[in-house]
Amino acid sequence: MARRRQLYEGKAKILFEGPEPGTLVQYFKDDASAFNAQKKGTITGKGVLNNRISEYLMLRLGEIGVPTHFVRRLNMREQLIREVEIIPIDVVVRNIAAGSLSKRLGIPEGTRLPRSIIEYYYKNDALQNPMVAEEHITAFGWAHPQDMDDIVALTLRINDFLTGLFLGVGISLVDFKIEFGRLYDNDDMRIVLADELSPDNCRLWDSKTNEKMDKDRFRRDLGRVEEAYQEVARRLGILPEAGMRDLKGPETMQ
Ligand code: UDP
Repeated sequence: MARRRQLYEGKAKILFEGPEPGTLVQYFKDDASAFNAQKKGTITGKGVLNNRISEYLMLRLGEIGVPTHFVRRLNMREQLIREVEIIPIDVVVRNIAAGSLSKRLGIPEGTRLPRSIIEYYYKNDALQNPMVAEEHITAFGWAHPQDMDDIVALTLRINDFLTGLFLGVGISLVDFKIEFGRLYDNDDMRIVLADELSPDNCRLWDSKTNEKMDKDRFRRDLGRVEEAYQEVARRLGILPEAGMRDLKGPETMQ
């Protein structure tokens, strides 16, 4: 197989040039990192599961009219996506207090918020992704006010839909992080959901026991990390058919 050009390697994913112009291949690794990469490790099978979970959630969102970068899954660890210009903002939505919100504002983890809250973080590793306001985003031109209107509207729809979808399988969607990109079609530009949607960037708690089923198990050394990711996939009805024994999956061809 011909060597593919690697365009970018992040903490959990690699992007390769796609088969046609305007497409990319997104490869999901088992590597995990937390606390701005101060903590690093591997979660066996995570890449395979996140590839499936992100595919499933983006397809479901597509069905309700949320535009996404997802085209199709290629194999156990790779999916074909549309190439977009990433808006350098992490959009975080919170329904229940946890993580940095609890720490910063002294609100106990698990407190239901009076309403969903959207926060923005400037994607810049050197600055450790500082929190910013919409004012900074528009003043510095990271996104235009019209882009922000689209981002807020899409984010609220995504939150409503995913909250219901997860609740249906006994999971509370506590918070999550999403990213958006600009997709150019000739002279047209659309804001679309990009990156990934998986237990790496969502807080998912069992709705009965509040047991954590996400990356906090890795961040906080709670053990049974692989099992938690598997359980999310199982409840969504998308465990790979081959079962868990093949979760290491094929290595990428480069
Ligand atoms: N999150 C993420 N990437 C980041 C920071 C946060 O995916 O770089 C997700 C995280 O998994 C959680 C939500 O965004 O679901 C809110 O995270 P928080 O601000 O509480 O920070 P954390 O406690 O993860 O440091």
